[in-house]
Amino acid sequence: MAFDPLSIRSSFPILNQMAHGHPLVYLDNAATTQKPLCVLDAIQDYYRNTNANVHRGAHFLSDKATSQFEVARQTVARFIRAPQDSHVIWTKGTTEAINMLAYGLEHLLEKDDEILITSLEHHANLVPWQQLANRTGAVLRILPMEVDGQWKAEYEPYFTQKTRIFAATHISNAIGVSTPLKTMLNLAKQQGAITLVDGAQAVAHYSVDVEELDCDFYVFSGHKMYGPTGIGVLYGKTPALEALSPYQTGGEMVRKVSYQTTEFNDLPYRLEAGTPNIEGAIGLVAACDFIEEQDRKALLDWEQSLAAHVYKRLFHNENIKIHSPENNTTLVSLSVPNIHILDLNAYLDSQGVGVRSGSHCAQPLMTTLGIEGTLRASFACYNTMEEADRFCDVLIEAIDLLGED
Ligand code: PMP
Repeated sequence: MAFDPLSIRSSFPILNQMAHGHPLVYLDNAATTQKPLCVLDAIQDYYRNTNANVHRGAHFLSDKATSQFEVARQTVARFIRAPQDSHVIWTKGTTEAINMLAYGLEHLLEKDDEILITSLEHHANLVPWQQLANRTGAVLRILPMEVDGQWKAEYEPYFTQKTRIFAATHISNAIGVSTPLKTMLNLAKQQGAITLVDGAQAVAHYSVDVEELDCDFYVFSGHKMYGPTGIGVLYGKTPALEALSPYQTGGEMVRKVSYQTTEFNDLPYRLEAGTPNIEGAIGLVAACDFIEEQDRKALLDWEQSLAAHVYKRLFHNENIKIHSPENNTTLVSLSVPNIHILDLNAYLDSQGVGVRSGSHCAQPLMTTLGIEGTLRASFACYNTMEEADRFCDVLIEAIDLLGED
């Protein structure tokens, strides 16, 4: 049975408001999703009934908080099919997780080693590697995608014996393209490279199975999957996590400390210095439960049908160039030659339609595409077909109006 977004919209009261005198249409879900009531309730419940610092084992509330926090780790491990909860390291988000890797793996890199990323990457999966290359004398190589959004048929030569790290996004936040991960990860592994997948745009839409993907690391942010901001996950296989030097040191991550030396704690705590974002982890569990209560295939089909609908409506418009794929994506990314996307964005906003315009933190990709940026409408489970149509109507109206000047 087709998914009905109206059945869950009541869980997102934030959507029932007017924006500049029009019903709010929220289509900036790739930036961050709205949070269902169960997530808000879980956070409030934590502060009302549990709040205490974790892992200190000192009293009733501390034990309660620790137990909820560690159950959260188990739930998130299950959500991505990680075999054990110790594979889940809490982070602030995707960006922090990748920085933990770029610092934690530094001791394994030598001059002229290669770090391979794709041309689709968000700055979060580019700048940390570029800076790591600068620090170590390693070379950052880019696996290019063709301007038409297709992968070069011949990408095998990019994976060489020098490839020490391969880091790729699961799905592009800027243009909605998926990477042929399985093939690329296999090529990387054949060369003995350490592999990382940036799952920031995938976890809300796809059932991720890290064991099946068989990457060393998989990272994502809670706030893009109906969870709170300030919490994210670094998943790693045990040997991969063990190879990481701690990016931050301090309390919680130690077993024994003297003025001269420190004995670090076991995983996962060794990589989690300081008081963690406890309410964030608890809120993220509620988000995982929320997603898993849905028929995930129907939900994805629905989100993709919204994007495909917009694509079909706009594709033939001679003023519009669409940069995202026709199918199998949950967003539409477009530009309008002759009209600045920020002007279009402002008009859409004035009519209550919230989208995002710019480089989407992927400036090199925009350069490759030969554009300054795109206007992106990204869908989540609560978006309706009426909202997709409203986006198209207002965009066309804006092009008519702004194109006249
Ligand atoms: N990678 C991708 C593909 C993203 O879409 C984002 C967020 N736009 C990030 C990384 C960074 O995530 P965060 O800002 O939550 O750390």
